[in-house]
Amino acid sequence: MIAQIFVGDLSNLIALLEGEVIYCVHCGREFALFPPALVVQHYADEHWERLTEVERKSSELWEGLEGEALVAAHMHFFVKLMNMRPDLRLRAIEAGAMTEARGEDGTIQ
Ligand SMILES: [Zn+2]
Repeated sequence: MIAQIFVGDLSNLIALLEGEVIYCVHCGREFALFPPALVVQHYADEHWERLTEVERKSSELWEGLEGEALVAAHMHFFVKLMNMRPDLRLRAIEAGAMTEARGEDGTIQ
């Protein structure tokens, strides 16, 4: 079991995701996977009426973020992403951009 994953080098992770895309869940338009603010802004601009309260609050959290707050938000994004995409997680670990802690013995690999 993987107990936890740790983001290492953010710039390395960003480079790793180059070319990865995501599709708008409402209209299917294609976006770069990073930075996440691209698709978030699209949801707000084009699909605001279809968003739930939780989605609207999440969207508002990204507004005006810069500096350390933006870096922290990107770190959080990567942790969530890597929990959902084992294929990307493996690539990130192999590239040394991320480490994982194993549950059985607690050692970090
Ligand atoms: Zn859309």
